[in-house]
Amino acid sequence: MKINEIFKSIQGETSYAGLPCTFIRITGCNLRCSYCDTTYAYDEGTEMPISSILERVARYKTKLICITGGEPLADKDTPALINELLFGNYTVLVETNGSYDIRAIPQRAIKIMDIKCPDSKMSHLMHWQNIAYLTKSDELKFVLHSRGDYEWAKEVIEKYRLSEITKILIGTVFDILSPRMVAQWILEDNLNVRFQLQLHKYIWDPQTRGV
Ligand code: SF4
Repeated sequence: MKINEIFKSIQGETSYAGLPCTFIRITGCNLRCSYCDTTYAYDEGTEMPISSILERVARYKTKLICITGGEPLADKDTPALINELLFGNYTVLVETNGSYDIRAIPQRAIKIMDIKCPDSKMSHLMHWQNIAYLTKSDELKFVLHSRGDYEWAKEVIEKYRLSEITKILIGTVFDILSPRMVAQWILEDNLNVRFQLQLHKYIWDPQTRGV
């Protein structure tokens, strides 16, 4: 598999935020979101067999693993890697951009799926059938760039009754939309979602890689 980076850090997002976590960033992505902060993962990386990835991960000694990208499902070998990690009794989070069929992700892994909002310029590539494959253990993430994105996300949440299906995360594009403003909108609308900040960008310099 082509791996962009493997590192240990504090999980900055999701309901697992704050926990020590080993990240496996897989090279390659089929989308080009307008605000992408991991463009270095489009092509850069080193070929590694799954056995070497497992050895490297074991050295970090965390119980939690996050498979991210890029887009993990762009690599056909990702499900096999997930299965090996589950077999090793890790808790495995898989961050996916929502454009691939998530049934490729083994059941015991936790899916953290994006729904790309209009300002990303990628919402037309969402695989909407995925909503039917989410469970209460999974999490669905909207990253907002504007008030327009917020209104759109609200409509999608209502239309698909998403709060009854899974956990919903709302975050903002870092340094673009004020977290305080979005928190206020959520409170005004009494939206049943979890607002999140990208913790790692507050702990370390936002441009730092490998944290
Ligand atoms: S899906 Fe993620 S990695 Fe791919 S372009 Fe969008 S933000 Fe970047």
